[in-house]
Amino acid sequence: MDDLRRQVRQQLLFHQEMGVTWLDLTSPAGTSAAPAPTMPPISSKDAIAGTERAAALEDLRVSTIGDCRRCKLCLGRNKIVFGDGSASARLMFVGEGPGSDEDRQGLPFVGRAGQLLNQIIKAMGYRREEVYIANVVKCRPPDNRAPQPDETAACTPFLFRQIEIIKPEVIVALGSPAAQALLESSTGITKLRGTFREFRGIPVMPTFHPAYLLRNPAAKKDVWEDMQKVMARLA
Ligand code: URA
Repeated sequence: MDDLRRQVRQQLLFHQEMGVTWLDLTSPAGTSAAPAPTMPPISSKDAIAGTERAAALEDLRVSTIGDCRRCKLCLGRNKIVFGDGSASARLMFVGEGPGSDEDRQGLPFVGRAGQLLNQIIKAMGYRREEVYIANVVKCRPPDNRAPQPDETAACTPFLFRQIEIIKPEVIVALGSPAAQALLESSTGITKLRGTFREFRGIPVMPTFHPAYLLRNPAAKKDVWEDMQKVMARLA
């Protein structure tokens, strides 16, 4: 019963975090509010490994990627958007590529889609600093178009190395380009989402991109279903 109550409350919180304003989460008079969902610590790997991982990520960023000129996206970029979060994260999110806000700030998912991703992370019971967020391409595609095959081919070795260093227990692929890059598939996200697949032995949950949810709020319930499967894996 407690489990059911916790699940219902998490679902309600998720919708509230994602901007649904008509849900009333107030407790009946005389009862205290149930605590916010808490998940097991997400950075549970030991601190030394964490320091080594952080150093390896920094080496990748500075020494390997550097002032990257490996594809044409370098021509229009302002900042390279390497990634953000804990080097010891158990959970990693992979998006498509930086938009204008990300390009300006040098950080992934800081625009409107990023706000929604933050809400998803919070509704799952985590803090953004505990997870790791990266993209398929690290420079902004012009006019926010999808990355082209040559750009993806030039940039995915860096994403794959980030995954190798962090060794997350679960990866969430946000949208078709991320799912297709990780799964070497040409299937669209509508078909891929909701079922765990694998990248080099790591479970990957493909789901809709937050930018898609901004345009299609009805799909939030699908994402929540997918995130519940992720939470169950990490429990
Ligand atoms: N969309 C993405 O796929 N990545 C970002 O970093 C921001 C928006």
